[in-house]
Amino acid sequence: MRALTWQGREDVSVEDVPDPRIEEPTDAVVRVTSTAICGSDLHLYGVLGMFIDAGDVLGHEAMGVVEEVGSATGDLRVGDRVVVPFNISCGRCWTCTRGLQSQCETTQVHAQDKGAALFGYTKLYGQVPGGQAQYLRVPQAQYGPLVVPDDGTPDERYLYLSDVLPTAWQAVEYAHVPEGGSVVVLGLGPVGQMAARVARHRGAGLVVGVDPVTERRAMAQRHGVQTVDPATVDDLASALRDLTDGRGPDSVIDAVGMEAHGSPVAEATQKVVGMLPDAVAAPLTEKAGADRLAALYTAFDVVRRGGTVSISGVYGGAKDPLPMMQLFDKQLTLRMGQANVRRWTDDLLPLVQDAADPLGALDLRTHRVPLEEAPEAYRTFQRKEDGCIKVVLDPWS
Ligand code: NAD
Ligand code: ZN
Ligand code: ZN
Repeated sequence: MRALTWQGREDVSVEDVPDPRIEEPTDAVVRVTSTAICGSDLHLYGVLGMFIDAGDVLGHEAMGVVEEVGSATGDLRVGDRVVVPFNISCGRCWTCTRGLQSQCETTQVHAQDKGAALFGYTKLYGQVPGGQAQYLRVPQAQYGPLVVPDDGTPDERYLYLSDVLPTAWQAVEYAHVPEGGSVVVLGLGPVGQMAARVARHRGAGLVVGVDPVTERRAMAQRHGVQTVDPATVDDLASALRDLTDGRGPDSVIDAVGMEAHGSPVAEATQKVVGMLPDAVAAPLTEKAGADRLAALYTAFDVVRRGGTVSISGVYGGAKDPLPMMQLFDKQLTLRMGQANVRRWTDDLLPLVQDAADPLGALDLRTHRVPLEEAPEAYRTFQRKEDGCIKVVLDPWS
């Protein structure tokens, strides 16, 4: 089959790889009909080969039709139209039964050290081949795949149940926005777009989205979200206080995460650090670490005292110094983590099935291209060119 593979930093290509097959009784194989590129893929796209092997198949936002099932896949049937959650969870273990599916103890790779295995996310998360491919082997298929109506509606209505929608739902849940309260969403990529819409849907009084990219602010505005271009204000915290009775928002959602690309210090450091003696490299690494935390620091600055910061952006790598003095002094609550996808899908399925499309699932994708064009699509998405906000790949066109 054809699949999108990582070859090196900012180098991906579509290759012939072996077709997946059933390996465990709880496996299914899905013929992928739509598969999206995520901001989390950009973290892998931008890294050097320390965490990832050349040839790894990327992708964790897939849906399609069940092609084959193992002998222990419960009610799942060949021919079912399914969305595949990005984290692989069993539904039975201690953490899964407490709604912490992203911490599944059955699929976690190193006991206590990492959460659930993920599709297309390298040896750090179980080396499970990803979904930017024509077929996908789905472990724990007795629990994970969500059967959706085969009603002739476009895949995009359901596809984001694999990641973006549950991530946004959890971001809002963890933001503890008081009824009628205010929330600022940093970053209006796919996750931020949906977090802002979910916050409005769930009764926030004021939702403000912050992003430097014009098309992304325009999309948010179409869905009733007030926006700020951080490049046009001298002091973002003070601009946001002006909108929130002088105090700052009750909650801030960080939907950015580390932005290694576009950050000159992080870029330069990644290039040279491997060649330098430790004494020279250490301070550079520290600076790059702080640089990669820019959005998070902004969240701490703008949130009101006693407020909550909900982090859905992914952070990791390098040194991550946190401003403990500020966190302590402002008495902040932080919540974060990978989305527990299956915990929120029962809340979300009725909303995406609703013909009125209250969360605007059909207004997120800006590009639908053949899988064969994925390398170009990665570049466009990373550079935010051509009005690109969400790319969906079609493995069969
Ligand atoms: P994206 O890269 O398209 O979006 C990031 C957005 O942040 C961009 O629009 C960019 O212009 C904006 N941005 C960059 N720096 C900013 C700043 N300082 N202030 C305000 N905006 C800024 O990615 P995405 O697909 O929306 O994903 C966003 C983040 O969420 C990524 O880190 C991704 O890894 C993470 N994520 C986490 C989960 C989870 O389970 N927690 C799931 C999916 C994605
Ligand atoms: Zn994703
Ligand atoms: Zn489990």
